[in-house]
Amino acid sequence: MPHPHLQLDHVRLGYRTPAGTHVVVDDLSLALHEGRIGCLLGPSGCGKSTVLRAISGFEPLLGGSISLHGQVVATSRRSLAPEKRRVGVMFQDYALFPHLSVADNIGFGLRREPADARKKRVADLLSLVGLSALGRKYPHELSGGQQQRVALARALAPRPELLLLDEPFSSLDVDLRERLAGEVRGILKAAGATAILVTHDQAEAFAMADEIGVMEHGRIIQWDSAYNLYHYPATEFVARFIGAGVLVPGRRVPGNGSRIHLEFGEAEIAGAMPPEGKDTSLKVLLRPEDLYPDAESPIKARLVHKAFRGPDYLYTLRLPSGSEVLAHMPREDGHRVGDPIGIRLRSPKLVAFPASRPEGAAPPA
Ligand code: ADP
Ligand code: MG
Repeated sequence: MPHPHLQLDHVRLGYRTPAGTHVVVDDLSLALHEGRIGCLLGPSGCGKSTVLRAISGFEPLLGGSISLHGQVVATSRRSLAPEKRRVGVMFQDYALFPHLSVADNIGFGLRREPADARKKRVADLLSLVGLSALGRKYPHELSGGQQQRVALARALAPRPELLLLDEPFSSLDVDLRERLAGEVRGILKAAGATAILVTHDQAEAFAMADEIGVMEHGRIIQWDSAYNLYHYPATEFVARFIGAGVLVPGRRVPGNGSRIHLEFGEAEIAGAMPPEGKDTSLKVLLRPEDLYPDAESPIKARLVHKAFRGPDYLYTLRLPSGSEVLAHMPREDGHRVGDPIGIRLRSPKLVAFPASRPEGAAPPA
């Protein structure tokens, strides 16, 4: 196996404050191979931008190391200058130069190359981002999405070994974001680029990345495919952060380790098995697609809220125990808030976590 293109080992980062060093990233490790698009996904303030600055060389390491194709570029003792790392960055506010044409914006980082080579490269990039006809326009003549593609072409122009994208779509309208994320993915793949995206937006991460690290408080909690993050979240934090769903109480069926009992049915545990202890209570992740309406079902839930979402309705339902769950309802069925609705469990397998109960609380019956 060749060296990963980018590797972070036990990286520790922080800021000096009058009170001492405030550590914001701790023991963060990841590896990304050539041609892959990785993503750091996490809530605002969890340390994503700080990690990107460290990779590009603008943030000193307190511990650990960063390597680019097998060469160590940063430790707490030494650091390769940013301009020697060949890392391109595209920030959230990717201001284009307003007085330069689109072509000159893209060619900006190629000023030292011979004019012919530069012209060819700019033409190739214009075509790559689908803007061949607009090279002579100025930034203010372009739409937000077009400007964003120019910024991407500008970042790709010097052929960086690694491209870093910090919340690149956050200044755009929501409906544009997901489409552009898909387009940018296509452009990066066509360019053979290796890239790291950071975002707090799951739709963006899913639309763009091959592999995603979910961050919480300066650590990567789970590095995985979008599919696995959704279907096999490793912790409750990941389960709540990714996708819609709720955690409802369940119990292990005695004598059958992977079988769980819920108030509306039984299922098998999907993915990692929570450790088996004396306490058989569990928290079970229920996504809206795990339940379906069935008038014949003996399990009735009360309709608490009904949200129209275009292709379906999202129902919030209260179970007899008081737990609230979400369910997709495929079409208008005349149900009104307050109505009892028969429901069944669709999914034979569900993710479960140990139910941690407060100290001294009695075990559930
Ligand atoms: P994210 O990009 O995930 O929103 P950041 O990496 O920007 O998070 O910030 C992580 C933490 O570090 C936050 O608590 C933030 O307040 C703090 N922080 C970021 N930059 C600085 C700085 N220059 N000085 C002090 N603290 C900072
Ligand atoms: Mg940030």
